[in-house]
Amino acid sequence: MGSNALEQLRAAVRDVPDFPKKGIVFKDITPILNDPALFRASIDLFLEHCRGKKIEKIVGIDARGFLFGSAVAYELGVGFVPIRKAGKLPCKTEVAKYSLEYGEAEMEMHTDAIAAGERIVLVDDLLATGGTSGAAAALIRKAGGQLLEAQFLIELEFLHGRKQLQSTPVISFLKY
Ligand code: AMP
Repeated sequence: MGSNALEQLRAAVRDVPDFPKKGIVFKDITPILNDPALFRASIDLFLEHCRGKKIEKIVGIDARGFLFGSAVAYELGVGFVPIRKAGKLPCKTEVAKYSLEYGEAEMEMHTDAIAAGERIVLVDDLLATGGTSGAAAALIRKAGGQLLEAQFLIELEFLHGRKQLQSTPVISFLKY
């Protein structure tokens, strides 16, 4: 797709006002998934930033992080670990709580998903306030994983979500 891949990906992201609630502009990435060239181009962006990092596992965040993260893991030939919303994983989990606009939410990871010292990259579709990925980073660190980088297709920069990831390097491809 070449040098204009970023512009084409940006053009494909669909803004949906007032979803899932009033005042939120939802960034719908399904048109990217729907188009084989764009889907490949999006995965290639993640892959470019994984080169040379000796990654051992990709961790993806429920649910759109699974779509991108599992394709990246497949291509790298490394394992994939899902971090899920509370109550979805069947075996023993570690739980991380984080604050939402109103109240709290929880993310979970299987306790045996990451071995101490493993080299990890975290993948999600979108970084907003950073609450979700901050909780994911905490789970990875608690398991003893080395979190090398957090990668996002989209970053809503005005929400300053990077701050929640503290010392973890953050990369995003489409910034708003
Ligand atoms: P946050 O914890 O605020 O960084 O939210 C990140 C998670 O919520 C990601 O997994 C996104 O998929 C989803 N998300 C948050 N805001 C949006 C948005 N405006 N459009 C699409 N997805 C969003």
